[in-house]
Amino acid sequence: MNMKLINVKIPILDAELYYDLTIKAGQVMAVNSHEQKQKADRMFSFLGEDYEEADDLTWDGDGRILLPGMTDAHMHLDKSHSLLVAENKSGTLLEAIQSYTQASETFTDENVKDRMRKTALSALAHGTTTIRTHIDFNTKVREETTFRGVRMALELKQELAPFIDIQVFPMLPYYPYDDDDRKRIEKMLTMGVDGVGGAPHISEKPLECIDEIFTYALQHNLPIDLHTDESDDPNVETVLYIAEKTVEADYQGKVVVDHLCSLAAMDHEKAASVIAKMKEAKFGVITLPAANLYLQGRDDRGVVRRGITRVCELLAADVPIATASDNVCDPFHPFGRGDLLQIAQLTGYTAHMGGKDDLVTLLQMITTVPSQLVGQKHKGIELGQKADFVLFDATTLEELFAELPQTRAVYGAGRWLQVTHVKKSLESVRR
Ligand SMILES: [Zn+2]
Repeated sequence: MNMKLINVKIPILDAELYYDLTIKAGQVMAVNSHEQKQKADRMFSFLGEDYEEADDLTWDGDGRILLPGMTDAHMHLDKSHSLLVAENKSGTLLEAIQSYTQASETFTDENVKDRMRKTALSALAHGTTTIRTHIDFNTKVREETTFRGVRMALELKQELAPFIDIQVFPMLPYYPYDDDDRKRIEKMLTMGVDGVGGAPHISEKPLECIDEIFTYALQHNLPIDLHTDESDDPNVETVLYIAEKTVEADYQGKVVVDHLCSLAAMDHEKAASVIAKMKEAKFGVITLPAANLYLQGRDDRGVVRRGITRVCELLAADVPIATASDNVCDPFHPFGRGDLLQIAQLTGYTAHMGGKDDLVTLLQMITTVPSQLVGQKHKGIELGQKADFVLFDATTLEELFAELPQTRAVYGAGRWLQVTHVKKSLESVRR
């Protein structure tokens, strides 16, 4: 379908100008800007009743906000919507891990893939077109359970490839490995995964665990993305060793660290020196406010810590920082719908960011920054690239963040997408 979409606002480029996009065969052929609105053939309608028959038309976006397809750089598709079978009475990270591990033995292929698909399609409906998903990889369970998440994630990646880019990052176990663990890890690394994840700070021997992760990642030339120091204890500082290893292995720019709750708990001077080391290692950072608000500070009374890392200090130090969903409706975080705009709003609350410039920064934290962190150079609205964007029914940044409008139109795979359309075409593929 060829079309022009004119008079849209793209605040991550310039909040004042109007932009026109020319799309041919699903590719961005031109991006122009102007100060005044221009005339179009038809007003864009979110109802979508005439998308299919219309070709070569110029649609009027009428000043509505457009973003490139959003990148959720940290999700757990395999765990999502498992809350009904894996509860978390204490609300702690520890019980969440134990409860999920126990429940995982009862899962089937179909059940896991259905839950993953449900969350991925919900994310797509909200405008997310790239997902990096961490996947449980527990070698102390039955062999089929160990591999189920990775197998299903790789199958879903194929199935949804026309609509969403999914990157699969299995989490390497945090306990010391025996021969059987190694056999399973080595087999998994040949299955076509996109990178290596893990949570070494929960290991009894975190430094050895980090060594293992680097050894496997280097052997297979895979990027690393780690749950890091998800703790309120200011003495938890595995990020320093990860930084050291990154420099030593010449892996700068290939390592992303997530959470960094303890960075917020330590004193300012110490935190500043940690941030300097992170910069040296060229880390990307992902803050995950929803799960941290839910899981952290569980031992506090009165003033309860929120577990949110030092977002503004990291921004001031020019460390690339994105924000992401983490868990959706599971024992780690019981709410959520895979809506990154909602997560950007939550980041605004937790990082004290609400000014006009802050709102633009928050939008960058769900689009351009995570896109760069997951290794996508061109995305969404770049000239000559695959057109991939989301149009919101809001005309100002204030309205966008206050209303989180549910009315959105997502463009990808060469046409306007609605989840019903995606489901139909998936069914036809399967038939
Ligand atoms: Zn996570």
